[in-house]
Amino acid sequence: MSKTLICSCEDVTAEDIRHAVSRGYSDVESVKRFTGFGTGICQGKGCLSAVAALLCKEKAQKPASLLPFTPRPPLYPTEMSLLASMKVDESQPPVGGVPEELAVFPPTLRPEGPVRAKAKVVIIGGGIMGLALAYNLSLRGETDVVVLERGYLCAGASGRNGGGVRMQWGTSANIELAKRSIELMGRFARDMGINVWLRQGGYLFMAKTKAVAERLERNVALHNKHGVPTRLLTVDEAREIVPGLSMTGAQAASYNPEDGVIFPWPFLWGYANGCRKAGIQVETFTHVTGFETSDGLVRKVKTDRGDIACDTVVLASGAWSPELAKLVGVQLPNEPHRHEILSTEPLKPFLSPLVSVLDSGLYFSQSMRGEIVGGMGDPKEPAGLNMGSTLRFVSRFSQALLEQMPQLGHVKVLRQWAGCYDVTPDNNPVLGRTPGLENLLQMSGFVGHGFMMAPAVAERMAGWMTTGESDELFTRFNLRRFQEGKLEREDMIIG
Ligand SMILES: Cc1cc2nc3c(=O)[nH]c(=O)nc-3n(C[C@H](O)[C@H](O)[C@H](O)COP(=O)(O)OP(=O)(O)OC[C@H]3O[C@@H](n4cnc5c(N)ncnc54)[C@H](O)[C@@H]3O)c2cc1C
Repeated sequence: MSKTLICSCEDVTAEDIRHAVSRGYSDVESVKRFTGFGTGICQGKGCLSAVAALLCKEKAQKPASLLPFTPRPPLYPTEMSLLASMKVDESQPPVGGVPEELAVFPPTLRPEGPVRAKAKVVIIGGGIMGLALAYNLSLRGETDVVVLERGYLCAGASGRNGGGVRMQWGTSANIELAKRSIELMGRFARDMGINVWLRQGGYLFMAKTKAVAERLERNVALHNKHGVPTRLLTVDEAREIVPGLSMTGAQAASYNPEDGVIFPWPFLWGYANGCRKAGIQVETFTHVTGFETSDGLVRKVKTDRGDIACDTVVLASGAWSPELAKLVGVQLPNEPHRHEILSTEPLKPFLSPLVSVLDSGLYFSQSMRGEIVGGMGDPKEPAGLNMGSTLRFVSRFSQALLEQMPQLGHVKVLRQWAGCYDVTPDNNPVLGRTPGLENLLQMSGFVGHGFMMAPAVAERMAGWMTTGESDELFTRFNLRRFQEGKLEREDMIIG
């Protein structure tokens, strides 16, 4: 049988697009993620219009709902050495970036009809946190649950992250959560019937300053106490693990071979499928616009498809959580901060661990498709919900990467994008009940490590919600701690 090829870079056929539609992924962004179309060297230029036409022909979409991909820098595949040659003024904050974030998705993408009138639990946010929680509630027999997501699955940070999963943390609470999450991730493909490409190639942290080297040393002792086999490396030992790594400016390194990298998107599909199979509704393109409260309880969640009466509301809206909390008069300490990231053309496998320079926040790994995927925080980035991409980032990143791996100078950057870290003052999440609004549960503030924490946090939260048994996690990370000043800072933060 002949195949109609739609995306020749990624070998995506018309049948693949129809398959995505049959699985419920029918807007271009979801289809792009489900099939991989538009993620290759032509950056979607050659295939988007064909996919759009096919979606209309299949009656999966109306023309008015077909949004073009917005051009982002680099406009065409560009060598890292060229990007690294651009001058960056480190004294100035980054400005702007393209594209502008969509505040509201087009009404034509909204499912027809109103949301249901009542649900026991309403979860706001269809990122990894909201979906993992809903799925874990279903495992405990609670299926009277609705997940509300204003965009497509993967629209938030959960669809934009680096996929790093590690046990190398600075506090016992985070080490134990990460250990459990990685254990669950190892079983995810078997349990959920979807491949998430978990590859435990380790994490190699480099320290350039004495203070950071001492931090690594302190943390190695803590990891070992928790059974995590992290070890300190000399500069030469690090070069043995990553041949070609210059280790320029590095004094020390730490390495845990059991850390790794996953591919984030299938996690969301896996959890969403699991929810739907259990009878939980996952409502995409459904925007929460407000709340109705009385007597210290949230009574209704208001959406652009009608109101839902509920017993419990969970705020799992990532970087948007403070904005939503404000609608119900709650002040969260979280701040959104843009983090940019990029991916290169694929190379033969050569890089086993994810490598990070802890001092600068540079990190990079190699995906299962061979691409170098990496990012770097910008200390000048102002707080705000900005998901635009900048030339400044690709340039800063390329400079920092080529310092450590000069041989990558000729590799071309194919794609870049951005998402928001959901940052709290102590780099730990906001979990548990809201003082003054007992049935509003918090599940946000996961900074740059929420993806890897989600399976374990959701498991604990579902248990805590359905059994009523106390769990110290929801006291330790309660909103009250910011007023009471009981903060235990997590310092192993990338970016
Ligand atoms: C560039 C980058 C790299 C990262 N790297 C890693 C990494 O390597 N490892 C790791 O573990 N973590 C990483 N993270 C962090 C991780 O992605 C997040 O901590 C995690 O995805 C947060 O999940 P979430 O479900 O809380 O939020 P999100 O995934 O952002 O989900 C929140 C959802 O709420 C929806 N929403 C917002 N407002 C409304 C509304 N009004 N109505 C309905 N829905 C709404 C949003 O559309 C969004 O989909 C990274 C993040 C970024 C940005």
